[in-house]
Amino acid sequence: MPGDKPSTGSYLLLISLESKKKIKIGSLGTFEFQPGIYCYVGSGMNNLDKRVERHLSDDKKKHWHIDYFLEEAEVVATVKFKTKEDMECELSRAVSDISEGTPVEGFGSSDCGCGAHFYILEFN
Ligand SMILES: [Zn+2]
Repeated sequence: MPGDKPSTGSYLLLISLESKKKIKIGSLGTFEFQPGIYCYVGSGMNNLDKRVERHLSDDKKKHWHIDYFLEEAEVVATVKFKTKEDMECELSRAVSDISEGTPVEGFGSSDCGCGAHFYILEFN
């Protein structure tokens, strides 16, 4: 509807990596990733839909850690949580609890105190 503000909130990207790969994650360095299902936690407090769409686009400058990973891996599902408050870090802690851990300390969490916002959920 006209005049509607863009939605805000947090999201999960579920990402599949088909085979073992070495990937350079910007300034964090190069890491070897095992095949499996990964989960990235982010937020879009200006425009949630646009932020998630950006992750799905191939045509972008690499800016975030996840941009480097997504060059080699495929987003298989996105989940949006529309909230006024930024729940990104809380969501990240919840995902952390049910994950197999984070493959790279500091991945996606440059702007907060979390260990990471990126986890492996399941090894293939
Ligand atoms: Zn955080």
